[in-house]
Amino acid sequence: MRDDDLVGRGRCSDTQGLRTVRGAVALSLPVRGRGYGGRVTSDREGSLRSVVVVGGGLAGAQTAAALRAQGFDGRVTLLGAEGRAPYDRPPLSKELFERDSPADLVHEVGVDVAALADDLRPAEPAHALEVRPDGVVVATSSGEVEADAVVLAVGSRPVVPAGWEAAAVLHTWDDAARLRARLTPGARLVSVGAGWIGAEVAGVATKAGCEVVVVEALDVPLERQLGADVGKHLAPWYAAAGVELRLGEAVVAIRPDDGGDGASVELASGAVLHGDVVLAAVGARPATDWLRDTLPVDARGSIAGDAVGRVAPRVYAVGDCVTRHGTVYGDVPGGHWSAALHDPESTVRALLSDLGPGAGAESGVPGHAPYVFSQQLGHDLALFGTPSAFDEVVLRGLPGHDDGWAALYLDGDNAQTHDGRPVARLRGVLVVDRHREVGALRRLLRAGLPLVDVEAAADPSRPLKDAVVILP
Ligand SMILES: Cc1cc2nc3c(=O)[nH]c(=O)nc-3n(C[C@H](O)[C@H](O)[C@H](O)COP(=O)(O)OP(=O)(O)OC[C@H]3O[C@@H](n4cnc5c(N)ncnc54)[C@H](O)[C@@H]3O)c2cc1C
Repeated sequence: MRDDDLVGRGRCSDTQGLRTVRGAVALSLPVRGRGYGGRVTSDREGSLRSVVVVGGGLAGAQTAAALRAQGFDGRVTLLGAEGRAPYDRPPLSKELFERDSPADLVHEVGVDVAALADDLRPAEPAHALEVRPDGVVVATSSGEVEADAVVLAVGSRPVVPAGWEAAAVLHTWDDAARLRARLTPGARLVSVGAGWIGAEVAGVATKAGCEVVVVEALDVPLERQLGADVGKHLAPWYAAAGVELRLGEAVVAIRPDDGGDGASVELASGAVLHGDVVLAAVGARPATDWLRDTLPVDARGSIAGDAVGRVAPRVYAVGDCVTRHGTVYGDVPGGHWSAALHDPESTVRALLSDLGPGAGAESGVPGHAPYVFSQQLGHDLALFGTPSAFDEVVLRGLPGHDDGWAALYLDGDNAQTHDGRPVARLRGVLVVDRHREVGALRRLLRAGLPLVDVEAAADPSRPLKDAVVILP
């Protein structure tokens, strides 16, 4: 599901027009620990003359756009690693068999980094970061870039467990092109992982005439993301789409074929599945290995940032590579398109507020709920908020019903009543095949986590906003 409030047929309304607008730190690093809690105080008004953006994906491009849109007319350097213009990743899986070129961000969201950056280096990855009291130095494959501030937008990389080298991954345009060439009609695909990408690829591959088996170590699809009570309702989608789903089956080894392109997947049960293509779709981790000794990075590799992506003096992070700590949703890890699209706006506002001509101005926290969309096996999903395994789940509508359904994640700790009716804090919502509710939910959750009348919220015939309870 595309974010239709934002993307009208692949065009993002709130980024349109960006191309037309151009317009004494005393901390030495390493700065390790849990995120940056303070504000950089600039000793010179207007000391910000240059920013280096590391990463040429959606978040990096949006950062360059936000810098210009917010009036920064200093030098912008953008470093990338893929050697191509920024493109959109969600179509890599959803349109795997339909695209013959990447979904360029100029067309997808109206951002042209070539017009925004003074110095564009799409094939010059950063290797090291040094933060000095008066600026940053980024070491690249071919030299050094000095700037007054850095925005890290390095995204993530797919997880490939040791010994799984025979498995393909899907993260870049090059990965997609390789996968497409091998997934010819009749080919057998074994996808390891029934997460977002495993499910999406399974759906399009089976439609393209491949024989598809999905192996998942947990007991239901998307269990870590949605919880077992909700994930179980997704399992029947696989058989209905013609995909074999093997749940609760851990992979112990993936062995390449002798002399062929395929591989065998050995399961803990002893079963061995052969695939002409084996896809490792077991998650992604921030591409931050090179920053571990310099910045606060958690066990997943996520950089710790505050609610607007401040990491350390002169250092900011956006998109998949950062976990933002805010007061409403707590720790929100990157990893989804919507954050990479939106968060650079508030991060750049903070950066300009900290270091720019108007240093000291209020930077503001982003006003949107965490949001993930997916199209898989013939279904549209939208997940808002950050549901946890401790939440109580209430269904709104019936899974399998033509009219779609939703799962409400309610804070069980807050069980209380209002006028004798149970009320609870809404922490997240999964919407399935009910596209008309998506915009309303985004508006509802923008202001924080509402308290809802549980019975009214569970009634799909009533707008969810009518279930909101304001306690006296
Ligand atoms: C196949 C696929 C389908 C997806 N579908 C959905 C979806 O349906 N819904 C959803 O919400 N999200 C989806 N996502 C996730 C979404 O695409 C990402 O959250 C989003 O692209 C993150 O943007 P980013 O700019 O932070 O990172 P990226 O898009 O990963 O871009 C980071 C860029 O930085 C570069 N880089 C890395 N290290 C360095 C370095 N040291 N120096 C310079 N450059 C570097 C990388 O090569 C990359 O080009 C999908 C992802 C994939 C792979």
